[in-house]
Amino acid sequence: LLYPTADVPKPRYVRVNTLKLDVESALHELEKQHKVRKDDIVPDLLILPPGTDLHDHPLVVNGSVFLQGRASSMVAVALGPQPGWEVLDACSAPGNKTVHLAALMRGNGKIIACELNKERVKRLEDTIRRSGAPNVEVLHGDFLNLNPKNPLYSKVRAILLDPSCSGSGTAADRLDHLLPSHTKAHSVGAADTERIRKLAAFQVKALSHALSFPAVEKIVYSTCSIHQMENEDVVNSVLPLARSYGFQLMTTFPQWCRRGLPVFEGSEHLLRTDPIQDLEGFFIALFVRENKLLTKNG
Ligand code: SAM
Repeated sequence: LLYPTADVPKPRYVRVNTLKLDVESALHELEKQHKVRKDDIVPDLLILPPGTDLHDHPLVVNGSVFLQGRASSMVAVALGPQPGWEVLDACSAPGNKTVHLAALMRGNGKIIACELNKERVKRLEDTIRRSGAPNVEVLHGDFLNLNPKNPLYSKVRAILLDPSCSGSGTAADRLDHLLPSHTKAHSVGAADTERIRKLAAFQVKALSHALSFPAVEKIVYSTCSIHQMENEDVVNSVLPLARSYGFQLMTTFPQWCRRGLPVFEGSEHLLRTDPIQDLEGFFIALFVRENKLLTKNG
C-alpha cells in the first residue's frame, strides 16, 4: 500500500469542558487509568492512546469532558469568541462546537444556536444540558430565514457556520478519494458529484447570508469535507461579496502547515486537516471585518 489505511491506530482526543472542570483536574483524574498528554495546538484538548474507550467514563457521562476530535475542536478556537459577546451558531446540532464556544466564553454573553432539523434539536438540547452551558438559546429554524435586520441579531458579533456537508473528511469509506487514481476502489460517481454540487450551493447561500449580519466582525466557515467544491470554491465564490461588506480572509492557526489548496490568491489563509495524517479531514476559513465603519453595514 502506498498510503496508511484507515485502520491505522488513532489516538483518542477529549476536550475538557472548562465550564465544569479545569484541565489540570481532568488530566489528574484521567491519568489514574490512562496515559494522557495535552495537545500542543488546541488548548483544553487532551490526547489518550489509541483504543482508549471513554464512552462510559464518569467525566464523559457528567459532561466534564467531551469526546471531540482535534480538527473539530479547532473550529470554535478559530472563531475566538470573547466572554460577553453575542455569537450565532448557524447550523448547530448536535452542538459540540456550540458548547465549546460557551466554554471559550466562560459561560458569559449569549450564544444563539440555530438548527433546522427537529430531531437534531433534541440532541443539541441534550448536549447543552450535559455541558452545563448557561448562555445558549436554542432556535429551531432555518438559518437562511433569519432576518439580519431583526433587532434580535443586531448585537451578534461572531458567526460560526458549520453547515451540512458531504462528510467526506470523516467517513472512512471515502478515504480512497485521496489515493492515486490507479489504486482507487471507486471514484466519485455522478450521483456523488450532483450531491456535492447541491451541498456547495447551500453552503454558498449560507455563507453569503452570514456575511450580511450588520454587527458581525468574525465568521468561521468550516466543513468536514475534503472536496474543493465545498471548501476553497465556496470561499472563493463569496469573496467579492465579503469584500463589499469589509471582510477579509485571515490566517487561522498560523503555525499549522496544511493550508488551503492553491486555487486562488489568498487561499494560504485557509486551513485544511488531512483525513489520514490528522485523522479527520476538516476545512476552516476565517473572515474578519476590521473597520466596520467603512462598510456599507456600518
Ligand atoms: N456544528 C455541529 C457540531 O459541531 O456539533 C455540527 C453541524 S452539522 C455539520 C450541520 C447541521 O446543520 C445539521 O444538524 C443540519 O441539520 C443543520 N442544518 C442544515 N441546514 C440548515 C439550515 N438551513 N438552518 C439551520 N440548520 C441547518
